[in-house]
Amino acid sequence: MKKTSIVFRITCWYAAFILIIMAGFSLLQFEFESSQAEAEARTSLGETVSEAGEFILEEGTTYAISSYMSFYKDDIYLSVYDENGDLIEGRRPPRISAWPAFRDKGFQRCFDDNRKRWFLYDNQIKVDDQTIWVRGMKSSKSVYGDSRIFFPYMMAVLIFLVILSITGGYLISKQAFSPVRSLISMVQKVSNDQESVHHIPSNSQADEIGMLTEEFNQMFDRLSEQQEREKRFTSDVSHELKTPLSVILAQCDYAAQDSSYQEEALVVIRRNASSMSTLVSTLLLLSRGDAGRLSLQSEPVDLSMLCHMVADQQEEELLSEQITLSRDITPDIIIEGDETLLMQIPINLITNARKYGKHPDGHIALSLSVTEDVITLSVKDDGPGIPQEHQQKIFDRFYTVNESRTGGGSSGLGLSIVKMIAGYHGGWVSLESTLGKGSCFMVMFPVKECSHEA
Ligand code: ADP
Repeated sequence: MKKTSIVFRITCWYAAFILIIMAGFSLLQFEFESSQAEAEARTSLGETVSEAGEFILEEGTTYAISSYMSFYKDDIYLSVYDENGDLIEGRRPPRISAWPAFRDKGFQRCFDDNRKRWFLYDNQIKVDDQTIWVRGMKSSKSVYGDSRIFFPYMMAVLIFLVILSITGGYLISKQAFSPVRSLISMVQKVSNDQESVHHIPSNSQADEIGMLTEEFNQMFDRLSEQQEREKRFTSDVSHELKTPLSVILAQCDYAAQDSSYQEEALVVIRRNASSMSTLVSTLLLLSRGDAGRLSLQSEPVDLSMLCHMVADQQEEELLSEQITLSRDITPDIIIEGDETLLMQIPINLITNARKYGKHPDGHIALSLSVTEDVITLSVKDDGPGIPQEHQQKIFDRFYTVNESRTGGGSSGLGLSIVKMIAGYHGGWVSLESTLGKGSCFMVMFPVKECSHEA
C-alpha cells in the first residue's frame, strides 16, 4: 500500500474542509446577492413599464410617452409595440436577433447575439380597441452590477485563505507530529540495534502526542533498566559460574598430580558443583515459569509443618551467626500446591533476612496466620530496611539494591522466585520496610485455594 504521511493527510483534509466551507459560503453569498439584485430589477422594470402604460392610457396615444418619460433611463430600455409585434416607438437594445414572444405582466430572460443576458417585462394595454405592448428591458450587467464585480476579488481572497490554511495546517500538524517522527527514528534505531534506548524529546504539552511520548519514554526507561540489569546479570552469572569452575578445574589438576589429595579434592569439587547446580536450577525454574511450563505437583500441603521444617533447617546456621529466629505459626494450615516450590518461599525469605538483616544479635520473626479470606506467611527482620525508591522494584528479576554483589548467591533472583511461586498458587507478595528498623516480607494466598483444619 502506498505510504502517505499523517501530516500530509491532515493537511489535505484540512485544506479540503476549509475550501468546501469557504466555497460554500461564497456561493451562498453570491446567490443571495444575485437573487436580491434580480428582485430589485423586477420591481424597477415592473414599475417603469406600468408607469409608461398609465401615461398611454391617460393620454389615449402612445406618442404621449415621450413627453412624460425617457425611453432609456436607469439602464432600462423602454419600447412600445402594436399587436403584430412591430415597434411603434421607444428604444430597444441592439444585437438581439431572437426576440421572445410577448407575455402580459410576465418577467422573462433572453440572450443577445453576444450571449449577454437580458431581463424583460411586458405589459399589455388596450387603447381604442387596439392592443398595445409596452416592454421594458434591462441587461444582466446592470442587474447584478456590484455583486458580480466583487466575484473575482472574492475568488482571490478564497485562494489566499486556502493557501494560508494549507500552510498553517501543514506547519501546525508538522510541529505536533515532530515527537512522533523522533519516536519513529528512535524505534528504528533501537530495532536496528544502532543505539541503546534513551529519551525522545517531548513537546512538553499535555496533549495526546505529549502523553504518548511520555509513555514511550517511560517504556524506554524500563527497557533501558532491564537491559542494564540483564547485562549486569549476565556478567554476574558468568562470574559466579566461572569461580566454582576454576576451583573444580584446579582441584582436578591437583588430584591428578597427587593421588593422596583425591578425596579432599572431591569434597571441594562437590561443593562447588552443587552451588553451580543451584544457580542453574534457579535460572531454569524462572525460564520455565516464564514460558508457563512450570509443572505443579498439586497436592494438599501442610504449610504450617513446612514453615516449621524450614525454620528447623535454618535455625542452627542462624544461631552460629548469633541471629535468633522466632516462630508464630498457626497450626494445620493446608494449601493445595507444590510442596517443593512452596518450601522455596520461606527459605528465600529467611535467607534474605539472614543475608541483609542485622547480625550479630539480629532477630528474625517467621509467622504464618490465617483470616477468613487470606493466609499470610511473613518474615520480619530488624535489619537496615530498604529505601523507598527500591521497594517497588525489589521483586523484579535481577534487581539488587546494592550494585556490588554481597558474594556468592546474590543474583537478584530470590524474591522474583518467591513472587513467581506465589503467583502460581494464586497468591501475591507485599513488603513493608522502614529504614533503620527492618523489613517485613509477606506472601498472601487466598483461602479458597486452601483450607485451614482447626
Ligand atoms: P539476592 O538476594 O539474590 O540478591 P533477592 O531477589 O532475594 O536477590 O533480593 C533482591 C535484593 O533485595 C537484594 O539484593 C537485597 O538488596 C534486597 N533485599 C532482599 N531482602 C532483604 C532484606 N530482608 N533486607 C534488606 N534488603 C533486602
